[in-house]
Amino acid sequence: MSVMDVTNETAAEPDRFLLNTWASIYQTFGEDDLITFFFGTIIVTSAAFYGTNGFFMILDLAKMPKFLYKYKIQSDKQVEMRKLRKALRQAAINQILVSLPAFVAWYYIAKWRGCSCGYDVPSGWEIVRDLVVILAVEEIGFYYTHRMWHHPIFYQKIHKLHHEWTAPIGIVAVYLHPLEYFVSGVMVALAGPIIMGSHMLTSWIWLFAGVIATTVHHSGYSFPGPLRHTTEFHDFHHLKYNYCYGVFGILDYIHGTDTLYRKSTKDKRKSL
Ligand SMILES: [Zn+2]
Ligand SMILES: [Zn+2]
Repeated sequence: MSVMDVTNETAAEPDRFLLNTWASIYQTFGEDDLITFFFGTIIVTSAAFYGTNGFFMILDLAKMPKFLYKYKIQSDKQVEMRKLRKALRQAAINQILVSLPAFVAWYYIAKWRGCSCGYDVPSGWEIVRDLVVILAVEEIGFYYTHRMWHHPIFYQKIHKLHHEWTAPIGIVAVYLHPLEYFVSGVMVALAGPIIMGSHMLTSWIWLFAGVIATTVHHSGYSFPGPLRHTTEFHDFHHLKYNYCYGVFGILDYIHGTDTLYRKSTKDKRKSL
């Protein structure tokens, strides 16, 4: 079936661009759902992860370009090569041993839930609606599982690894014990699309943006823009451990786990 045939048969005018784009992607994967799920998701998440981390790695190690390096939050801390090698090794272990089997499992769960990756692409409005719920699920899922890892039962054996970095860099986003990577990373990220029965197009938009966002949150750079607050928020968590567990700060505000962060930002504003 050609892209034009598909477009003429099913497209509503406003969604023509999305349908055309998706049709060419889907046909590249031979219109095979499992191949689209598995290889497509690997490509989307790897492009986001290695693209963003490659950029930050150059910035961290070469400290260039200067006009971007000046946004480093804890600029007095240097990246230790021994720690960096260990983080890269753990990232590869998690991606190969956890992500790959999880993507296959996701395919079967998503199919059971009725998630499509065919020509029935969602409208722009449906994508936005799904993303709002996905972000809410991320905040709730990440906040409570992250607090759980800080409980003494789990902290030493599981979450302490992630906190070896008090001044994190991008790669630390996946420098996690495999169990934590699976629960707080993979499961929480995929829960939203499964709950919403999202089309694969929506899931990929979320995963691409989500991987970039979590890398920026750990990057240690507070660039002006929409991720500034959430980056400073998570950097503060690595600095002080028992504050700022969530992504957006909404549940930290409700539970009062952001008090020290709010005090420090207020003090910083006063001293300017
Ligand atoms: Zn972290
Ligand atoms: Zn933590």
